[in-house]
Amino acid sequence: MSKTVIIGGGITGLATAYYLQEYAAGTAEYTLIEGSPLLGGKITSTHENGFLVEGGPDSFLAQKKATLDLCTALGLDDQLIGSNGGQQISTYVLSEHRLHPMPEGMMLMAPTMILPFLRSRLISWPGKLRMGMEIFVPRTTSKADESLASFVRRRLGAEALDKIAAPLMAGIHAADPEKLSLQSTFPVFVEMETTHRSLLLKMMKTKKTQASPASTSKRTSMFMTLRGGLQQLTEAIAARLNPKALRLNCRVLSVTPDANHYRIALSDGTNILADDIVFATPAYITADLLQRTNFQLAEKLRGIRYTSTATVSLGFKRVDVAHPLNGFGFIVPQSEGRKITACSWSSTKFMHRAPDDCILIRVFMGGALAEDIVEMDEAALVRIARRELQEIMGISATPVLAKAYRWHKSNPQYEVGHRALVSEIEQIVATHSGIYLAGAAYHGSGIPDCIQSGMKTALQIVQMQRHTNRAFTDTFSSVSVPS
Ligand SMILES: Cc1cc2nc3c(=O)[nH]c(=O)nc-3n(C[C@H](O)[C@H](O)[C@H](O)COP(=O)(O)OP(=O)(O)OC[C@H]3O[C@@H](n4cnc5c(N)ncnc54)[C@H](O)[C@@H]3O)c2cc1C
Repeated sequence: MSKTVIIGGGITGLATAYYLQEYAAGTAEYTLIEGSPLLGGKITSTHENGFLVEGGPDSFLAQKKATLDLCTALGLDDQLIGSNGGQQISTYVLSEHRLHPMPEGMMLMAPTMILPFLRSRLISWPGKLRMGMEIFVPRTTSKADESLASFVRRRLGAEALDKIAAPLMAGIHAADPEKLSLQSTFPVFVEMETTHRSLLLKMMKTKKTQASPASTSKRTSMFMTLRGGLQQLTEAIAARLNPKALRLNCRVLSVTPDANHYRIALSDGTNILADDIVFATPAYITADLLQRTNFQLAEKLRGIRYTSTATVSLGFKRVDVAHPLNGFGFIVPQSEGRKITACSWSSTKFMHRAPDDCILIRVFMGGALAEDIVEMDEAALVRIARRELQEIMGISATPVLAKAYRWHKSNPQYEVGHRALVSEIEQIVATHSGIYLAGAAYHGSGIPDCIQSGMKTALQIVQMQRHTNRAFTDTFSSVSVPS
């Protein structure tokens, strides 16, 4: 029987192992190797004095079904919670030292409702006029990938980029919009321009024809999480895996082709042989591990750059904070010259994040435009977060909880040309039987993308193993065995 080794016990590696077990109906022989003492990777939820703090991701996009489907399969349906509805204003943008509500009807960076957009004081009148002129902008004739910044500037103008698109991208992808690939991050905009020319006209038309949601079920929320934090998901997957197949606190040091197998050297001094290896590790680590197998592949993998980020969660007594926290938080344009890129009002966004008499706020720092800040120690990051919240939201109270997480080289950057680079990488991988790449570096970096990638990889492995076994059985049975 073929032996599979999965390197990396984040959500990608866990999903791969889970679906491998499922698709092979319990017959899969696999080992999951995780370098740290804990499974889950960037998903880490901590419970402290009634607060629930997410160190990495805090929710997932419900529109992509992979996470919801996995939650259902794991029996977590009753633990799913959507972001709180009923808020009059969902997100703010810091502009000229004040928090301005994002105009109602904004779909990412394009307004779909005229009146709220015209009334908003976030964008100047010349800026609004320029955004409105989008309906006359001709479609591009180029088929080449373009940066998000170039696209937004071209269609909606510089102010839409500075005030809306760029800070949103800093929040979602921790990215520099001048380098971010439109094709890989927002293919829907490429498609809209190609097919309909004007984004505004298309979006306004879609909005009009869209039926209002039939139900207010929690599954209709755009962002969802689990009542006890996202770690509930990784723990539920881990509980379904064969405990003998898990090796924690053990790093893979190198992978070397060895006859028909791969030899995997581990940090505990042992070696294991594998027929199939899934690299569910960040691309730069995968590059180091594959250096001896294919130097060119390793070089290409290093072409996917990563940036560093940090999150600081601060808990306060409700009475100490005058701000109404009537929204999900705010984003910060670079032109504001701040040290933070975004802020989530976590206890407004989701239930069960803070004790009844407290609130929880989470601040984001770093990213492609300011990643050096992540080198500071955690106490310094907490000091910066407090100072920024004091200046922006007027919170001067001493927090009752403060927790900082630094994430080095954590966010893959889908730069212009990313799709072509991934395609080249996959062509080389296809020449190495038994090697599989999965995770956030390639076809989407959100949790649903990682789960989808693990699922797809597991399916490929099982199909390939069945095919090989059948070929082997067919060859064997066609050979006449001398009596
Ligand atoms: C601050 C932050 C906030 C985010 N927020 C969201 C969000 O709200 N929603 C969302 O959908 N996504 C979010 N993301 C993105 C998402 O969290 C990640 O893309 C996803 O968790 C990556 O999972 P993974 O399994 O591919 O990688 P990882 O979680 O990085 O797991 C890789 C694992 O490999 C292990 N490893 C590395 N090297 C070795 C080795 N040599 N041997 C053995 N093991 C090794 C590591 O220890 C790690 O556990 C966020 C990311 C960050 C950093």
